[in-house]
Order: sequence, then structure tokens, then C-alpha cells
Amino acid sequence: MARYKDEQCRICRREGQKLFLKGSRCYTDKCSISRRNYAPGQNGQKRKKLSEYGTQLREKQKTKSFYGVSEKQFRKYFDMASSSRGKTGEVLLQILETRLDNVVYRLGYGASRAQARMLITHGAFEVNGQKVDIPSYLVKNGDVISVREIRKDNDVIKLNVEANAARPVPEWLKKDAQNLNGKVVRLPAREDVDIPVEEHLIVELYSK
Ligand code: SF4
Repeated sequence: MARYKDEQCRICRREGQKLFLKGSRCYTDKCSISRRNYAPGQNGQKRKKLSEYGTQLREKQKTKSFYGVSEKQFRKYFDMASSSRGKTGEVLLQILETRLDNVVYRLGYGASRAQARMLITHGAFEVNGQKVDIPSYLVKNGDVISVREIRKDNDVIKLNVEANAARPVPEWLKKDAQNLNGKVVRLPAREDVDIPVEEHLIVELYSK
């Protein structure tokens, strides 16, 4: 199984971008993108020119991988976005950003979105005082996300708080590391989304 060891890094290398899928390693020079920024596989160093469809598909795959959502969930979010009044691509990113696993990661209580998902499903967090163990839960403006009292001694969370103390928190969230919580002070806008994505390509793909 050794060849699957760096599966997440292979996703970044395929996209040619850091997608921050592995936690602290992503911020060090051990990051595979820093060391080998070419696609995995025998012909990885020869990047092929993509067709229009291929470019749109890669943009969608990259965004899905970044947030760690399945095709089915991603499509559901797209449908929600396209039936909203806002710009579909921007609303899609806003929905993805407001997933609880993303919020826990953004607040620095999870080393990666994958780890945040694991902590949430193990019942480590509550929203507005109510336990929420669903990583896809969408937070709203004004919500307070906290580490549950019975999980405040969790070693993984304690380690993350220490390791991520200097990691910037997006402006739409307010972190209170001392009390292990965070508040949604407004919904995320397009400029708050730091993934290098051209969302119009995803809209074009799904509109075919
Ligand atoms: Fe691997 Fe993280 Fe670097 Fe991506 S950003 S290649 S997951 S270490």
C-alpha cells in the first residue's frame, strides 16, 4: 500500500497547487509541491494542454478536493447555489466555506479539514450550545462554534490550538482561543475565499 501513502499530496501535484490537505506538513518545506511540483506518474513532468472541458473539470475536481466533499454533495451545493439569487459560483464557494468542518479548520481547531471532520463526527463541537456531529452542517451568521466542555482536554485539539496560534483566521470569523470557540460575524464574501479557483469554469461545466 506504500504507493497510497502520499495520496493527498498526489492530488495537489495533479492540480499543480497546494490544497492544504495534510495539516501542518503543508506549511513546511516537506510539502510535496515545494519539492516536486509536477503531476504524479511516469509522464508527470510533461503537462498536457487541456481541452476546454478538461480545464473546467479540473477546476471542479480541485475545489471538491480542497473542501473534501463528494461529487454528490458538490452537485447538491451547486443546485442550491444556482437556485439562489446571488451569482452561482460565488454562492457555491460561500456554501462550501460555511460547512462546519471548514469552519473548525479555519478557526485552527483542526489541523486539516479531514481532521476537523473526524473531530466533529467524534462529537467534539457544538453550535450555539447544541452538539453537532455532522461535518456538512452549514453555519449561519451569528453562530458560535465551540469545543464541547467534555472535549476541552482533547490532546489533538490542544495541540492544534498551540500549533495554529499564528495561522490567520478569515475576517468573517472571530476566534476566541482561550475559550476554545469562534463566532461567525458575517457570511464569507468572495474575497474571503483563498482557494485559487475560477468558479465560472465550474458553472460552465455544470451548465453544459
Ligand atoms: Fe501534500 Fe499538503 Fe503539500 Fe498538498 S499542500 S502537497 S497535501 S503537504
